[in-house]
Amino acid sequence: MPTYEYECQSCHQRVEAVQKFSDAPLSVCENCGGELRKVFSGVGIVFKGSGFYKTDSRSSSSGSTPPVATTPATTTPAATTPAAAAPAPTPSSGD
Ligand SMILES: [Zn+2]
Repeated sequence: MPTYEYECQSCHQRVEAVQKFSDAPLSVCENCGGELRKVFSGVGIVFKGSGFYKTDSRSSSSGSTPPVATTPATTTPAATTPAAAAPAPTPSSGD
């Protein structure tokens, strides 16, 4: 017999109910009389698992090698670029 889980929309109390397929779903919270909504446990887990799956498998297989993120700091310091001295390219040359 399947077990359904409900959550009250008012007091967010979780209610587990063992019902048959033919039984009518619960709709009223026994605690506060609010509206019960069925909780589909498993859908959220699959969604989260698929998102973490890539990162987890990659990091575990590559070991302690960080992914290619930014340029190494051992290059020529080209951070000093005066924006005022940059001439705007003119696409429309005399023709
Ligand atoms: Zn309630």
